[in-house]
Amino acid sequence: MDEFRLIERFFRRDSKSSEVVVGIGDDGAVVKSGINEQTVLVTDTLVAGVHFPERTAPQDLGYKLLAVNLSDLAAMGATPNWFLLNLVMPDADESWLQGFSTGLFSLAEEYSVALIGGDTARGPLCVSATVGGHVRSGTALRRNGAQVGDQLWISGTLGDAAIGLDLLGGVLGATGEDMDYLVGRLNRPKPRIELGLSLGAVATSGIDISDGLLADLGHILKESGALGAIVDVSCLPLSPQAIGACGESLAREKALTGGDDYEICFTANPAQRSQIEQLRHNCNVKLTCIGSIRTLAGIGLTGADNLDLTGIKPGYRHDWL
Ligand code: ADP
Ligand code: MG
Repeated sequence: MDEFRLIERFFRRDSKSSEVVVGIGDDGAVVKSGINEQTVLVTDTLVAGVHFPERTAPQDLGYKLLAVNLSDLAAMGATPNWFLLNLVMPDADESWLQGFSTGLFSLAEEYSVALIGGDTARGPLCVSATVGGHVRSGTALRRNGAQVGDQLWISGTLGDAAIGLDLLGGVLGATGEDMDYLVGRLNRPKPRIELGLSLGAVATSGIDISDGLLADLGHILKESGALGAIVDVSCLPLSPQAIGACGESLAREKALTGGDDYEICFTANPAQRSQIEQLRHNCNVKLTCIGSIRTLAGIGLTGADNLDLTGIKPGYRHDWL
């Protein structure tokens, strides 16, 4: 049984609370907190050997834990405020803890998010955080608002983190500088908070790409009413480092299916194009139109003539056999 079926079957219930504005099924939950503001809550867990290689430096792990949570807040268009931290560790190694907290707080300070509590226990290494933020009432960016004819946009570049992981595993090789860049993209993803805050005015839907473009775009399409999309693979934004490490064909495949990039995928009416071009400058992030939303369900690929995409998996999914 995979994670999504499991959640549907055992945990998705009709909400009895009038406080809940958005429940299970989006990047974060939204609850009432005032007349003008709503609270947005996200949580994410990183398990050693599953979400990060066991040898990951503690500084990077601390940074990444908060970054992946902030990324979910970015995908909701929310401003971060505070977080809770849960640590399960096999031992209390002081230099590990020093490194982890340094990485964690470097990002917490950058976004002025306060650590307000958590839980600590002995066990196999697993770290988790819950982050709270806020939006103006009714402005949270949802997965379910995509419309037929919308353009499909991506921030930054895709595939870098998956290639970084392959470099660490010795599956691929790269020059020292390219290796540092790509492994850096895996270990220290940039949460697109500023972009998320600006998207409310232009986007119809949004999600952060944690599992792979095809998988996460699939969530937007499903939640928006079984819509489809056409993606021009030749338009996928790739870094020169990604192309350098594995060549253009494999880099495009990684961009479609690789997880851990934490870029934002969003949809917007074509009339918003010039506003979006403006956001590139205001938020200092590359934004690329890679396709559009259509009625025909599923994701169609164009511009993939030189790629062998038979048997590709759309992205990462936790599974229990
Ligand atoms: P994301 O990739 O944005 O972190 P996930 O794919 O992990 O989101 O989760 C999909 C949705 O299911 C989210 O809305 C999440 O809050 C919800 N969810 C995940 N695990 C559970 C759980 N154990 N109980 C209830 N809801 C869950
Ligand atoms: Mg998400």
